[in-house]
Amino acid sequence: MVRYFSTRDSHKTPLSFAEALLKGLAPDGGLYLPDRIPTLSPSAWLEASSLAEVGVKVLGEWLKEEIPAADLEPIVRDALNFPCPLIPLSDGVYVLELFHGPTLSFKDFGARTMARLMQYFLARRGERRIILVATSGDTGSAVADGFAGQDNIEVVLLYPKGKVSDVQERQLIVRRKGVRSFAVEGSFDDCQRMVKEAFVDPQLSHLPLSSANSINIGRLLPQTLYYLWAARQLGGGAVNFCVPSGNLGNLTGGILAALMGQDVPRFLAAHNANHFFPNFLAGRAEAYQFHPTLATLSNAMDVGAPSNFERLYTLLGANKLRAWVWGTVVLDDATLERMRQTYARYGYIACPHTAVGLEAVARYRAATADPTPIVTLSTAHPAKFPEAVAGALGIQAPKEAALEELWGREVAVETIPPTVEALKQHLL
Ligand SMILES: *Cc1c(COP(=O)(O)O)cnc(C)c1O
Repeated sequence: MVRYFSTRDSHKTPLSFAEALLKGLAPDGGLYLPDRIPTLSPSAWLEASSLAEVGVKVLGEWLKEEIPAADLEPIVRDALNFPCPLIPLSDGVYVLELFHGPTLSFKDFGARTMARLMQYFLARRGERRIILVATSGDTGSAVADGFAGQDNIEVVLLYPKGKVSDVQERQLIVRRKGVRSFAVEGSFDDCQRMVKEAFVDPQLSHLPLSSANSINIGRLLPQTLYYLWAARQLGGGAVNFCVPSGNLGNLTGGILAALMGQDVPRFLAAHNANHFFPNFLAGRAEAYQFHPTLATLSNAMDVGAPSNFERLYTLLGANKLRAWVWGTVVLDDATLERMRQTYARYGYIACPHTAVGLEAVARYRAATADPTPIVTLSTAHPAKFPEAVAGALGIQAPKEAALEELWGREVAVETIPPTVEALKQHLL
């Protein structure tokens, strides 16, 4: 039976998946980790005919003591009802497009699955939750879209005002049933701090607060599935993955997939100017030697203090992390140049986040003789970043119906200073 404990709990007090899911962040400030990782035969994914089918099998194994298979299957099929194609780019280099969900980023996988799992447990318990989300762009829209309209759940979004693109902001502030959006006059770290402070604030302790950030275990498990689905599309064998990273939730999903039995000799962690993790991997920074967030073109990766580092570090320790994960820092100029080269050579339009990944792949190939195929995760649709696409390529980003319709909708947003007091006034 899989049980979950907080990274900060030396007694490893065990919780069920439902408890860890509904709590989000542990009361001691830690993050939940499984006490063991189910291993599966590769046939679980290599013989699946869709990503949803991988999900039914793999999540079925993780959750079998808590959700009957007949209840889980429709949840997973409804959550993961969009395509996830693997596109060959050049010799041994592939792009896994994770942006075909309703809000056009990979966060739809985690948010949609988690929303349905939470609703399942809340409805059975007759409880409700207020979900507090700090977002640097894509999390908020995926969570708002995934959770909107659920009777037992209200969503409160915090995003750094002026630090997300126009399209991202629009996705955050369109009026949705059961969702309240706040533009915070500060950085993403301020938003994240406000959420953390709200969770431990005695005056708010009577509210049923929960989180849906990549800190929630309910988002991590679904983020293992597309790694397995990529291997299935390649027909099996060893694959390296390059993950454009910020808060390290996506990479944690990949590590869990590998620990379940997928053959991944190397992970590449591609970061923008927010350099903590690549520096840590190279031995140039100590664990938890975080820094303030820097604003970049790949803004959904603008995280100076990645929350999931605590999980990876607890799970693997420094030596294993440094041996398994190769990191690099890609600045904005190199990101733009990689967008240009990718378009010129292959006619492929990459969003800035994906371009950070593709640049990391080029550097890794130049630095090593590793012949293993590499899959770069494409984390967002380029249409979400029209300014960057126009600036780099001199062309209009392809139009997407899911974005165009947003401009005709009503919006609802309030601006607040970056303090937990300001947030409390609205919550109480
Ligand atoms: C959130 C996000 C990332 C970073 O993912 P983490 O799990 O935070 O590392 C990368 N690209 C896009 C487009 C994102 O929305």
